[in-house]
Amino acid sequence: MLRIGVIRDERFLEHKPGHTHPEHPHRLRVIYKMLDKEFENDLIPIEPKLASLEQLELVHTPTYIKKVFKTAEHNFSCLAPDTPASAKTYYAACLAAGGCVEGLNAVVSKLCDVCFCLVRPPGHHALADRAGGFCIFNNAAITARHAIKAYKMRRIFILDFDVHHGNGVNDLFYDCKEVIYMSTHDNFLYPYTGDWDETGSGGGEGYTINIPILRQFNDEDLFYIYREISRDVFYRFRPELIIVCAGFDAHERDPIGRSHMTEKLYGWLTHLFLSLRADINSPPLLFVLEGGYDFRGLGYSVREVLTAMTRHSDKAILPDAESDQGRMVVEKVRNIHKRYGVWVDQ
Ligand SMILES: [Zn+2]
Repeated sequence: MLRIGVIRDERFLEHKPGHTHPEHPHRLRVIYKMLDKEFENDLIPIEPKLASLEQLELVHTPTYIKKVFKTAEHNFSCLAPDTPASAKTYYAACLAAGGCVEGLNAVVSKLCDVCFCLVRPPGHHALADRAGGFCIFNNAAITARHAIKAYKMRRIFILDFDVHHGNGVNDLFYDCKEVIYMSTHDNFLYPYTGDWDETGSGGGEGYTINIPILRQFNDEDLFYIYREISRDVFYRFRPELIIVCAGFDAHERDPIGRSHMTEKLYGWLTHLFLSLRADINSPPLLFVLEGGYDFRGLGYSVREVLTAMTRHSDKAILPDAESDQGRMVVEKVRNIHKRYGVWVDQ
């Protein structure tokens, strides 16, 4: 049985981007209610802490951090046209970043085996000096940089199944070979980046794996792609830390995502990552909440992930998904990446 840590805190609800804004506090309210009802004795609560200035500066510029802090002076302001801030947004954002760092500390110190950081605001679009796409501080990137600095980790694998491209994570590690970033996304959606040939630069060439997906893809197609590509990365790169940017806006109910996945996919992916992790000596695994804007779809999806975590065993049977579309995608990604020899042979 895995010991599952969870980061949750009512203070994340204090970020209030507005009644009609999709990144609404109710997203977490629905999840927390479901945790109380269905996972009461299954989870180890991990206390989040505010990120320190030093931790924020692992990723963000001092000028940008100051700009975020200054939003505390107003009841309502805007960090980006789509990313408003309320008076306590800076506080929730610091707690989201610091909460993910605490999640990492908890798995590294073996307080738990895996941890799901149920935080907001989300982070994968946040750049060094800019908010955007509802994201303020880049929670996953700060956590990865903290792992490099504090725990001297040299091989980190970030998987991002949010329907949007995590341009922040992508850019922050683009020339870096300590981090492999793999994202599946619809690149006809915001932020319109993450094309096939965006594979990293300089010493980081081949360490960024961008996989645009088509709107008609289904659970089997996407699972097939993850099974084939992430398996190769797990076995070849042997990550010391795995961070999943867990956005659930590819769900069929999502008002923004326009995709057709069901919550079943997220359970399959969780089993897949846990099985692959077990094959490489069980390094720390963190799930970090990103998008997901249909309250019910989001609740169902998080429930599938936690159900998979609580029920996972070495004997978990993964679906034998076959997909012609998935096969074409995998072939294309391997062809693009084989010139680098990072996770696929030259
Ligand atoms: Zn998203």
